[in-house]
Amino acid sequence: MDKSLRKVVIAGNWKMNKTPDEATALINEIKPLVADANCDVVACVPYIDLFAAMEAAKGSNIKIGAENCHWAESGAFTGEVSANMLKTIGVEYVVIGHSERRQFFGETDVTVQKRVRAALDNGLKVILCVGELLEEREQNVTMEIVRMQTKIALLGVSEAELENIIIAYEPVWAIGTGKTATAAQANEVNCAIRALIGELYGKAAADKIVVQYGGSMNAGNADELLAQYDVDGGLIGGASLKAPDFAAIVKAASK
Ligand code: PEP
Repeated sequence: MDKSLRKVVIAGNWKMNKTPDEATALINEIKPLVADANCDVVACVPYIDLFAAMEAAKGSNIKIGAENCHWAESGAFTGEVSANMLKTIGVEYVVIGHSERRQFFGETDVTVQKRVRAALDNGLKVILCVGELLEEREQNVTMEIVRMQTKIALLGVSEAELENIIIAYEPVWAIGTGKTATAAQANEVNCAIRALIGELYGKAAADKIVVQYGGSMNAGNADELLAQYDVDGGLIGGASLKAPDFAAIVKAASK
């Protein structure tokens, strides 16, 4: 397999942080710091911040994403936002299946699959999150869990559509906890995800798919994680809220 076939993508996941004014300020602060990036740079922001972030990012190399989308085009789904709505306003990326959605909002592998389908049908690029709980790692079923989540999410996704999918391996025990998977642990699971893509779609697709790592990645550990053969970038939570920290990760990914 040839790593040079793959893009490196660093994406921020702002979670439920920043008002629109704060979003404008943060994007404006990040912009000059990542202008020379040799990787793709994405900021996934709360729905309320999308317009402000897109306006601030205009003319820069920062792409804007949302943090979720619903599978229906419209209808009686109070509080939800459709993939079609996101596309209509010019959003490019969407995070789907984040562990916080699975843990706190009842997302299942099936709803994740439906959201992925809707996002692809509306021309959005998907950052699909998969990852095991601490007890699942301790029970030695990490690979089974990650394979199952990935397989169900990709049901019905064609090889051509895979071009618009990034998979983010995010061990749940490492998200927002300050505990990072070791570089070897991250690479092992990312490698297994790539092997699964090979089984499902063939070697060419496996060579090309972007598989990120996410879970307490920061300026201090990014170099080692991103140097791993099967780690093609990162999904960054906490550290994406501080421009210098996020920029340091982008710099590490640009090497
Ligand atoms: C995330 O929210 O996807 C994430 C990886 O968070 P953190 O970097 O804060 O662990």
